[in-house]
Parts: sequence; C-alpha cells; structure tokens
Amino acid sequence: MSMENGVVHSGFKEQSKDFATRALHDGQEPEQWESRAVVPPISLSTTFKQDGPAQHRGFEYGRSGNPTRNVLEAALASLESAKYALTFASGLAATTTITQMFSNGDHIVSMDDLYGGTNRYLRQVADRLGITTTFVDAAVPENVQKAVQPNTKLVWIETPTNPLMKLVDIGKIAKITHAAGAILVVDNTFMSSYFQRPLELGADIVMHSLTKYMNGHSDVIMGAAMTSDEEIHKKLRFLQNAIGAVPSPFDCYLVNRSLKTLHLRMRQHMENGIKVAKFLESHPLVEKVIFPGLPSHPQHELAKKQCHGSSGMMSFYIKGGLMESKKFFKALKIFSLAESLGGFESLAELPALMTHASVPDFQRQQLGIGDNLIRLSVGLEDADELIADLDAAIKASAA
Ligand SMILES: *Cc1c(COP(=O)(O)O)cnc(C)c1O
Repeated sequence: MSMENGVVHSGFKEQSKDFATRALHDGQEPEQWESRAVVPPISLSTTFKQDGPAQHRGFEYGRSGNPTRNVLEAALASLESAKYALTFASGLAATTTITQMFSNGDHIVSMDDLYGGTNRYLRQVADRLGITTTFVDAAVPENVQKAVQPNTKLVWIETPTNPLMKLVDIGKIAKITHAAGAILVVDNTFMSSYFQRPLELGADIVMHSLTKYMNGHSDVIMGAAMTSDEEIHKKLRFLQNAIGAVPSPFDCYLVNRSLKTLHLRMRQHMENGIKVAKFLESHPLVEKVIFPGLPSHPQHELAKKQCHGSSGMMSFYIKGGLMESKKFFKALKIFSLAESLGGFESLAELPALMTHASVPDFQRQQLGIGDNLIRLSVGLEDADELIADLDAAIKASAA
C-alpha cells in the first residue's frame, strides 16, 4: 500500500507527480494576455478584429475558435496525456462529432452495457445514417475480436460500465482494434483523467462527458474528445467547426476552474467511496456491492493495473425488491435521488426505473439490472455522515 496525501492507493498504478501542477498551470500562463491576469479571462466576443482581410491573430469567429475555450482545451489535453483536446456542447455532442468521422457503410463494435445516451445514438441515429454497430460484452476481449468485420472502422468502449461497474481491458482491446485497422475510443467519464488515462494504454481517442467528474459541480453540460494523433485531431477540429456543437465561453471558464481541484476531489471521492463500500459490504441487509476499488470486485486486479485509483461510483443490491428500494430512497436525507454522477454532492438512483429504463426488460434481467440494484455517486460530504444516512435508509427499507 502506498500513501499519497492521506489516500490509501492500495496497489493502484502510480500517479504522475506533476498532475496537480499541470491542472493548475498548463495552458494558463498569464503571459498569453496583456493584463497578465492570473485567472484566465472570459472572452465572450463572437468575432475578432482583423489586421487586414483574412489576416487574423488566431481568432476570427467564435465557433471556430475562442480564447477561453483554447485555455480549457490546453488544460484538458495536458491532464489526459494528449497532444490535442477539443470541447463540445455536451458529452453526446462529442460522441456525435467523433462518429461523423465515419460514413455510410462503416461498422462500429461497441458494448452491450453502454451509457444509455450513447446506446440510443448508435441504435437510433447513426444506424439510420448507415453506420451500423454490433454490441458485445467487451469485458471478454475475444467478443470484440469476433465482432470485427472487414468494414469495422471504430471500436467504442466504456470502462467501468454503468451501472454494473464491469471493467474492460483497454490495452487488450487496443491491440485487437489496431490489428483490425480500426481506431479505439474510450469513454473515460466514470474515472476522470485523474484515475485513468486510456491514451497511455493504447487508445486513439478519449471521450469525456465533462458534465460529470471533470467539472464536478453539477452546473455545466459539456463534452470533450482528446487524441495525440494529428490526423485524427485535424478531422475532429474540422468537424467541431463544421457541425458546430461548441460550448459557451462562460461554461469553458467554469470547467477550467473546476479542473484546479480535480485531484483533490477525486482523492476524496475515492476515500469516501472505499469507506462507504466497506460499510455496505458489512451490512446484513445488503446482498452484494460492486465497487472496483475493493478486492471483492472480480476485476480488482485489472483495476489496479490500468487505473490510478477508483472513483466514487458503485452499485449494490439491497435485500428485497422494488418496495424495499422505494422505502430506501424515501428515507435518504443526505443522498439525493437523482440521475447523473460525479458532482460534489452524493446521489443515489434506481437504474431499472431511471437511467436504464430504456434498456429492454429482458436485457436488463440478463445484465442483472434488477429493481433492487441501487447506484451511488458518493460525493464529498463527511464519510461518516454518508454512512449513517445509508444505514438509516437501509434499515427503513426493511421496516
Ligand atoms: C453523462 C454521460 C455521457 C453523456 O454526456 P452528456 O454530457 O450528458 O451529453 C456519456 N457517457 C457517460 C459514461 C456518461 O455518464
């Protein structure tokens, strides 16, 4: 076990020493603007004065480039170990823009247990445009191998999955993807750049819903795509402007500010997550806890190999069914019953009726998303208070 600023990392991959320094300074050098303001200014202007026709100083029109957006993109690239980062109006806007690199007749391999919005986009939008997808259980890499077709151009994975917290071996999938001549995208939303950096493991593009851990304050919807491949970046940069799903400068300012505390927030999410998961594991009214940060997770070894820690995301099966779950949610005082995740505040939800309601019944059963499966996003409140809240609500569920 190694200790870093009080957090027990229990054998996870070693963290880069300069992560915090990069989050605070990369792309933020005050020399870039005349005022030398230490906090990057918000540039709301939609247009920029030119020295002569088509002679500009890096900015011409707000959709194609904005100084506040550039500052954020530079910081994001640094944290994800990418050469380039681009931001979008939402995580799904990033997803849409990435898939627009491909054309009618191209094929994608993705996962059965995928973020609901990505699943809906691939099945109901991309498919209609002639880009088809095969969905497999990518926790078994051979399944991805078997699903590859001659026209497969893209493999899209997410790890850990939602809400069952299954892990996918990024390095192994990268090898399979590259052997097939395709590119690998990893949705890194659940881990943040602090706990997992897929480009270092062989991925070609990392996609984030910045809405979640990266912004972490539940007040911005935004997405990002990062890569170190210049050709991919050029295509995405062209599409960012051509499709136009760009974020507002004000939102870019907020996310950039949030990145300054990413390392602190993630360490605390992990510390609270471990305490809450251990408490749930010991509770007689809890059937099972799924948390990659504990040795009880069947892929804990993989988690330690490819991650620098674990976030505050976990799921657990409460004893009983829908009635017990409903009583549990009603009794919670600190955890809010709400969708989304990764903010400072603790959230609890019932995937079967909420985030995963659009997954067909039989598929939910197959996957194990029952009426007693509860997903938690463990926030930054005092861990003992969170545990007391859960304890009271679990007892109320059985009363
Ligand atoms: C929320 C989320 C998305 C979509 O992002 P938005 O910002 O809501 O568009 C994609 N992937 C994962 C894993 C998410 O949790």
